[in-house]
Amino acid sequence: MMNCRQATRLLSDAQERELSLMDRAALKIHVLMCSGCRNFSHQMGTLRNMIRTYAKGAKDASPGLRQLSLPESK
Ligand SMILES: [Zn+2]
Repeated sequence: MMNCRQATRLLSDAQERELSLMDRAALKIHVLMCSGCRNFSHQMGTLRNMIRTYAKGAKDASPGLRQLSLPESK
């Protein structure tokens, strides 16, 4: 069982490289059992989506930035 330090290290590594199957499995198990790392994982996912959206918006020269900074209104 990995500890939280190893889990968060892997979560941030996952942003930059493909994790091995073993790493991903161990990480998944830890995140399922540890609410702290689960929150961290969600934050990482949100951050990555924001970066991806921003990069996509900039590339397409569409108003992605404006969508990113405004809360969704219905
Ligand atoms: Zn943890």
